[in-house]
Amino acid sequence: MIEPDVSIREKLTDRFGRTVDYVRISVTDRCDFRCVYCMEPDTQFVPRAEILTLEEFELIARAFVALGVDKIRITGGEPLVRRNVVALMRRIAPLPGLRELLLTTNGSQLSKLAGPLRAAGVNRINISLDSLDPERFRRITRTGDLGEVLAGIEAARTAGFERLKINTVILRHRNHDEVVALVRFASTRGMDISFIEEMPLGVIGDHDRAEAYYSSDQIKQDLEKVFTLLPTREVTGGPSHYYRLGETNTRVGFISPHSHNFCESCNRVRVTAEGRLLLCLGQEHSVDLRAVIRERPGDEAALKLAIRAAMDIKPLGHDFQLAAKPIIFRHMNATGG
Ligand code: SAM
Ligand code: SF4
Repeated sequence: MIEPDVSIREKLTDRFGRTVDYVRISVTDRCDFRCVYCMEPDTQFVPRAEILTLEEFELIARAFVALGVDKIRITGGEPLVRRNVVALMRRIAPLPGLRELLLTTNGSQLSKLAGPLRAAGVNRINISLDSLDPERFRRITRTGDLGEVLAGIEAARTAGFERLKINTVILRHRNHDEVVALVRFASTRGMDISFIEEMPLGVIGDHDRAEAYYSSDQIKQDLEKVFTLLPTREVTGGPSHYYRLGETNTRVGFISPHSHNFCESCNRVRVTAEGRLLLCLGQEHSVDLRAVIRERPGDEAALKLAIRAAMDIKPLGHDFQLAAKPIIFRHMNATGG
């Protein structure tokens, strides 16, 4: 199929001149884990009728790609616990103009789904892994089984994705002493790794975010005692900055919303499982795309109009503060991390 010219596909641009070409879609807020920094053990999930159907997600993906978006990430909650999610990937991957279809997962279902996801057209996967110690892994995820995730990572490696990346949230006293081991784990497997600073999304009863804070700069110092980190000029338009690990192919990324602000180059928006278009991870500005879809089923023009209009309320940036009470009351699983 001939790829439409981007100028014809009308790029999405906000009031500050930033082009939005990347969308993260949360296909469910449900998850088989209960990571301590993400949700409470007894989290109440959104009633099923309020969650978009796979057809509705496809319509949204189609509208964004028609508006110049060339990169879509499917996330959650845990996207791979959503039934038939591979079929959704299969329908989104070939959209003309889409350059990359990506997935973020906790890895628990990858043993069985890695092959089908690759066959469906997923280009790259990020897999979350916070510890290499089974007991600690269980304590951080509350319900996760490290063995299952490691088997999932192996399945993904053999399935032939373009690139695999580990995502690790580092928390003082829980896993900050594992940064070197985790980088070794990634590099010996030809994978990249990113360290994420915890973000204050939602109230979490059982741990103190300010106390658990371990900055990217501290992690980098710990790594530099053992490895050579060469700066790269790679930019993603997001909160990551990257280094290359010595002579290897491995990239080490730092996602640092606290210590390094990244808003001026922001190129992304998020769609929640209920179809709320979130214009900023750290603010509540949003537009209800589900209302548009359900009032005018199948009307892609109306959907595109709503998405374009939403660009006018994309805020300049987030306002995360560690010590302050959260200003954002939705948790990461409801946000599409
Ligand atoms: N369930 C999948 C997973 O864990 O990879 C996808 C969704 S999860 C919300 C996406 C990423 O957000 C994970 O890497 C997770 O570690 C991270 N995350 C969750 N809550 C966070 C928080 N409060 N601050 C920073 N990162 C967080
Ligand atoms: Fe689930 Fe991912 Fe949140 Fe952990 S970080 S509870 S795996 S959605």
